[in-house]
Amino acid sequence: MLGKTHIVNSIAIASIPLAFGTQINIKYSIFLGLVALGSILPDIDEPNSLIGRKMQYLSYPINIIFGHRTLTHNLLLFTILGIFLFMQGYNYLFAVNIGILLHVLQDSITYQGIKNGLFPLQRFNYNFVLLPRIFRFAVGSITEYIIFILSILFLLIVIYIQLGI
Ligand SMILES: [Zn+2]
Repeated sequence: MLGKTHIVNSIAIASIPLAFGTQINIKYSIFLGLVALGSILPDIDEPNSLIGRKMQYLSYPINIIFGHRTLTHNLLLFTILGIFLFMQGYNYLFAVNIGILLHVLQDSITYQGIKNGLFPLQRFNYNFVLLPRIFRFAVGSITEYIIFILSILFLLIVIYIQLGI
């Protein structure tokens, strides 16, 4: 998925409670910002990504050592880290971690899937995917564009609800 799709889709998912009675406040706004940040962090392993381009001194070494969609896309690692952050009460880092997890799940519904996404639960070099191939899509495809547009539409509905018009 492209960086912009990761951002709007992650904010949309994190905004679901706002469509069902939760009132937005400063804390919730910060939460959404941190989720958005987390949602682009895993692609630090790709020098051509939104974040990779800005931090090439990090993205190139990570890409060369680990490859794209490996360590920074490990579902198991960030699930365990998420539980730890939650239990320790590190709320800000927990919000970033939610963004990272959403990113990994979003990537796992693309054709490419995530190499070693569940490692070591799956054998080495196994491609982790969430959906059968027929339901997955290519990065930058029309399906991704539709997800992008639907996320924007949902956010507009949330804004509409929040403004109480
Ligand atoms: Zn990714």
